[in-house]
Amino acid sequence: MDKKRELQKLSEEIASCRKCDLYQTRRKAVPGEGKEDAEIFFVGESPGEEEDRLGRPFVGRAGRFLDELLKASGLRREDVFITSVLKSHPSGNRPPKRSEVEACLPYLKRQLEIVNPKLVVLLGNVALRSLLGAEKVSQTHGFVEKNGRMFFATYHPSAGMRFPKIRRRMLEDFKKLKTFIRG
Ligand code: SF4
Repeated sequence: MDKKRELQKLSEEIASCRKCDLYQTRRKAVPGEGKEDAEIFFVGESPGEEEDRLGRPFVGRAGRFLDELLKASGLRREDVFITSVLKSHPSGNRPPKRSEVEACLPYLKRQLEIVNPKLVVLLGNVALRSLLGAEKVSQTHGFVEKNGRMFFATYHPSAGMRFPKIRRRMLEDFKKLKTFIRG
């Protein structure tokens, strides 16, 4: 099966998933989207309200800031893959519970196996904790190699929107991504 079809099948599985209680309150699952052989793969925390309504990742305010960051770094959204640790929206935008992350993480891992990107960009502490087992972006930041895969830990765009210092740091971070890909 080709990568596109594999991702499609996985998205269909996610859309009907009931592995944690979030299926009861979500409107649409948000599997993620992007190029099936993307070199850069972005992982956020969980879908927000706008994402829940549309079934697409990073389309709310944080998504617009992510678009800004991509543009500033010379990357195009259609060339990357974007998803999050949780694929269903937790009501009230509360942080994901550990049990929800455990239930959902296998989907993210399968997406990573299929796309097999050169670089996985972890946006915020939840993505960092889920894939690297590290606690805080303020302590584990930038390029990290684990099990033969390259990761880049940075802040979540919603933090960059709120704090000018983090915004500047994220702009610097994103510039490094394109340089890495060019190799
Ligand atoms: S968050 Fe993940 S595990 Fe929970 S219902 Fe949604 S897709 Fe399934």
